[in-house]
Amino acid sequence: MTVPAFQPAPQAPDEAPATLAHSVIIPVYNEEGNLTPLHQAITAIMDATAGGYEMVFVDDGSRDGGFQELAALAARDPRVKVVQLRRNFGQTPAIAAGIDHARGDILIFLDADLQNDPADIPRLLATLAEGYDVVSGWRQHRRDTWLTRQMPSMAANWLISAITGVRLRDYGCSLKAYRREVLSQVHLYGEMHRFIPAYASWVGAAITEIPVTHHPRLRGKSKYGLSRTVKVLLDLLTAKFLASYATKPIYVFGGVGLFLGLLAFLSLAAAIIQKFTIGVSLIQTPLTTLAAILGATGFIAILQGLNAEVALRTYHESQQKPTYTVRRILNGAPPRPAARRDRPPLPLT
Ligand code: UDP
Ligand code: MG
Repeated sequence: MTVPAFQPAPQAPDEAPATLAHSVIIPVYNEEGNLTPLHQAITAIMDATAGGYEMVFVDDGSRDGGFQELAALAARDPRVKVVQLRRNFGQTPAIAAGIDHARGDILIFLDADLQNDPADIPRLLATLAEGYDVVSGWRQHRRDTWLTRQMPSMAANWLISAITGVRLRDYGCSLKAYRREVLSQVHLYGEMHRFIPAYASWVGAAITEIPVTHHPRLRGKSKYGLSRTVKVLLDLLTAKFLASYATKPIYVFGGVGLFLGLLAFLSLAAAIIQKFTIGVSLIQTPLTTLAAILGATGFIAILQGLNAEVALRTYHESQQKPTYTVRRILNGAPPRPAARRDRPPLPLT
């Protein structure tokens, strides 16, 4: 296999005005055939919206002809910016790349598969104008399979609402609009793009939900199945941990440590009582030892995972390293370094 020579991302000579009213951000992975009709539908809606707009398509390493389709759109429409990532990083890094490369004051997110309807955007914007910072779509009549998609999603919405304390009926809906400021302190990892409303609320954003249309997917395949549920659960654990305990990890680690110590004490006490009452030797009761070992190992595994999450954040944020790499950009310059320098100090210090 030949390795292509490294090429730095081309610098566009001059960037257009620093900001725009609206950026429509679309993560794209193998959506050939959906992109031209989507561009058309967005254009029809956004042309009628005041303040100027751009579309930021993030091609997340598509292996079909999607990039060519996007390049053709960018060639004839200067409002189309295409950020092509070097490989498939996943929907969350693609969204992060979209945020970093968007110039709009209001960021609108949309899937590329035509399941979301751009015709809902004006209502999202009107609701935002009522004084909200985040308006989230709620797929009242969702057009996905029930058992593998809707049911896990109902459970997930309930759990995420309960754990984050931010009640939304549809965390999984991609169609959302944000004021840019509330995203400036949000760093996205794993599958965490769905928690953005919760993160935004934790920094004080006003959030609401409005019903939106949802269409069945006509072309291309969904990239997800049931396995996503597990990832979402683990991400939820991490998000909660980082939001609540990142500045006081001793409460978690110490708490678990004390609890395990108590269990160890109880099992030892039980073994000693057995020895002196019914005369069972300490080495004849392996079950409690086994349970203790398994329990402790499980806890250590989870804590190691959390530790790794913290280390990952320190790694990325101390070096201001994004979680993705960009191959090339059409119709736009790389994000200005200043946009990265004005980040807040590390939350862990
Ligand atoms: N997507 C992406 N990278 C991925 C997986 C998905 O950019 O690794 C995009 C995909 O092209 C679509 C959106 O994320 O625009 C949502 O994906 P999909 O429609 O497969 O998810 P579903 O709607 O079935 O939950
Ligand atoms: Mg979809």
